[in-house]
Amino acid sequence: MYAKNIWKDITEEKKKAIFEFGKDYIDYLTKGKTERLAAAETEAIAIKNGFVKAEDAKELKPGTKVYFTNMSKNIAMYIIGKRPITEGIRILGAHIDSPRLDLKQNPLYESNGFALLDTHYYGGVKKYQYVTIPLALRGVVCKKDGTVVDVNIGDDEGDPVVGISDLLIHLSGDQMKKTGDKLIEGEALDVTVGSIPLEGEEKDAVKANVLKFLKEKYDIEEEDFLSAEIEVVPAGPARDYGLDRSMVAGYGHDDRVCAYASLRAILDVEVPEYTSCCILVDKEEIGSVGATGAQSLFFENTIAHLLQASGDTNYFSLRKAMENSRMLSSDVSAGFDPLFPEVNESKNAAYLNRGIVFNKYTGRGGKGGSNDANPEYVAWVRKVMDENNIYFQTAELGKVDQGGGGTIAYILGNYNMNVIDAGISVLNMHAPMEIVAKADVYEAYLAYRAFLLA
Ligand code: MN
Ligand code: MN
Repeated sequence: MYAKNIWKDITEEKKKAIFEFGKDYIDYLTKGKTERLAAAETEAIAIKNGFVKAEDAKELKPGTKVYFTNMSKNIAMYIIGKRPITEGIRILGAHIDSPRLDLKQNPLYESNGFALLDTHYYGGVKKYQYVTIPLALRGVVCKKDGTVVDVNIGDDEGDPVVGISDLLIHLSGDQMKKTGDKLIEGEALDVTVGSIPLEGEEKDAVKANVLKFLKEKYDIEEEDFLSAEIEVVPAGPARDYGLDRSMVAGYGHDDRVCAYASLRAILDVEVPEYTSCCILVDKEEIGSVGATGAQSLFFENTIAHLLQASGDTNYFSLRKAMENSRMLSSDVSAGFDPLFPEVNESKNAAYLNRGIVFNKYTGRGGKGGSNDANPEYVAWVRKVMDENNIYFQTAELGKVDQGGGGTIAYILGNYNMNVIDAGISVLNMHAPMEIVAKADVYEAYLAYRAFLLA
């Protein structure tokens, strides 16, 4: 069903399913505020649904469900198919990192009676969107003795929140003349965390008091920040959006919404024809680099493991398995916003409530950096969608030369496999509060499942 509104001619049964799925998704998004938390939540759901750690699987036969994790930030789930892995895998890929502010390695300081934490933003953010909103500190502190301390300040029941101040309008004459990118500078994104001086302390007494709190709550010292990853994220849960509750407002839809729909799709698969895969990666927002990004050999290694565990140790088998695979590289699409129609070209824009979005290409300025899916593959994907009555649409990210963006599609394309960008429309992309339509989340799940079984 191409470019049609899902809510027209909908059955009561499907309506119910959309809202139930939306509820489950809100729970996942609320729990998965960082890539680590999203990976952990995904792993817990996978285990509950019969997946076992690949190294613990006794034998691999059609229907065997295994998963791999990588440095607590990636997870790859597989269901072995009836055909040999060398005939290719059906791959669903999405990323579970989201734009945010990260604490610097040496973050804590005191200034004019306040204790503050210095940050460096991660990914593409409009910095001015991060001031005067409730924020939480989520992440880990890794201590020299090997212990990993989970930090959560701002999201637990009864927790205080933290935040970043902005200048009062009364004194903003100079500030308001600046352009948007300079309105709040990167170095001004410092988080206020305290204002009471520690009794008996002369110098930096407020900072000392914060350190005392951290010692009591987490048993950490100031130097432990050196080996920490603490992310400053919007505080509070994801929630229904709109009087009709048709949408979800939350932090990090990009791209946990595609991750969740992909996860749910693979959970429905029993014994597929082709091996099913759902891989969730980190670092997409900064170029998919490093050990936990899509460019890492982790993914390839998991397939090498599966081949070896099936008794196939031929190096060329790995190449064949990659080359014969088909992938939906899932990432969010820019939903058409009625308040900003001018950035889109309406016949090639993505709309909320019209189902999964396929981007034949992404990129910027003449498709630069894009994976441009082969039309033969696009035709096959269309066929799969239509045979399964899936609502789908096609889109580009904005008007030509308006801007653009990238995804992980081209990285997997390097293996000579067919890949197309697919995903869910979102409003306010990269803002602390992003919006998706529940009908699209559900439809993407149906689309992913149809793809795995095609
Ligand atoms: Mn994304
Ligand atoms: Mn993004």
